[in-house]
Amino acid sequence: MTMNPLLAGSALGTPLPRVLRPQRALPADTVRPTRAEINLAALRHNLRVVARQAAGAEVYCVLKADGYGHGSKGVARTLERAGAHGIAVALLEEAIELRDAGIRAPILVMGGTFGRSWGEVLRHDLVPVLHDLGQLDELADEVRHSGSPAAPIHVKIDSGMGRLGVAPRDVPRLAEALRFAPEVRLDGLMTHFACADTRDVESLERQLALFEEATRELARQGIVPRVRHAANSAATLALPAARLDLVRPGIAIFGVSPFDAPVSELRPAMRIRTELVALREIAIGGGVGYGATWRAARPSRVATLPMGYADGLSRGLSNRGSVLVRGRRAPIVGAVSMDMTMVDVTDLPGAAVGDECVVLGAQSGPLGSDSIGAEELAGLLGTVPWEILTSVSRRVPRFYREP
Ligand SMILES: *Cc1c(COP(=O)(O)O)cnc(C)c1O
Repeated sequence: MTMNPLLAGSALGTPLPRVLRPQRALPADTVRPTRAEINLAALRHNLRVVARQAAGAEVYCVLKADGYGHGSKGVARTLERAGAHGIAVALLEEAIELRDAGIRAPILVMGGTFGRSWGEVLRHDLVPVLHDLGQLDELADEVRHSGSPAAPIHVKIDSGMGRLGVAPRDVPRLAEALRFAPEVRLDGLMTHFACADTRDVESLERQLALFEEATRELARQGIVPRVRHAANSAATLALPAARLDLVRPGIAIFGVSPFDAPVSELRPAMRIRTELVALREIAIGGGVGYGATWRAARPSRVATLPMGYADGLSRGLSNRGSVLVRGRRAPIVGAVSMDMTMVDVTDLPGAAVGDECVVLGAQSGPLGSDSIGAEELAGLLGTVPWEILTSVSRRVPRFYREP
């Protein structure tokens, strides 16, 4: 058991420092109106959409990077109850966090970095994805020394992503290593696509063919995994041949399209909202924000919202992005600062301090209804929606709600 540092301090007679805080503020602790609302019904809906596409394949929801910024524990609990077959994460510590939170579903650890922590893998009943033969030796050693039953593993084949995995030419050596390692059991064989999001079918098929060849080579040596898997969200939605025995959707579970075009059936699970905390009149020529990068070209009403780049509202949206107030867009003016952002509400009659302000997601109000998707923000910032979701910082408390 790890020692609570607060208790350790009191045992030594030193005064308790009041510096440790809960990782996520409780509702009662939250003074600032800035928060991310996570719609649990949307998560369940998206799981159903993906499961229908998976057509009988197992669904392992990918919840790396704190569940794509949604809070992996709350999300995992919801998806586990909704029937997800398993969960996949990148890091060992992400997996342990979920086990400690009481998640019982199978957890696949895909990132490949285990250091010397194979004992932790076994103790927490996790399934590691191995990508080289040295890892196989280390894990086999740990199993032997700890007297554990044979450890289930998945092995990754590099069929063209050029990142992690056993090269196709090394598959015969892999087969041999597995034959002589009774300490491990090949539960799964996997690969990962480089070009699924752009629907480059030719590239997908080339990778799948190499994966099939690796499967056959293992089978020739009598090694047959229980399941084989390759599909991320894009491949699950677009390429039936890639679904195999198990799919690994991430972004689709959160209701965001992996493609350039939207996927109408998916429902975004995250909505980020705050409130206007100040409002001022700016005369013609008056500047707003650091560097006065925006100046009023007309008498303007400019409102301040308590969210900035330290919360994940990218500084790249300075003078480019917009937010929703009263159901209509208000352009961001001036530079986004660390804790605050200013928006032009001159064209939004009735805008007042206390109005809800939506940075991500949908809003309906007296002036209309509109929504801002992670896809749109990614387009403005020259990045991908995955980065938008995972950039919402821990300073923004996550609130879980049914619709
Ligand atoms: C992140 C990841 C996924 C999920 O990808 P999405 O595009 O978000 O669906 C699947 N497999 C692996 C190996 C990953 O790293």
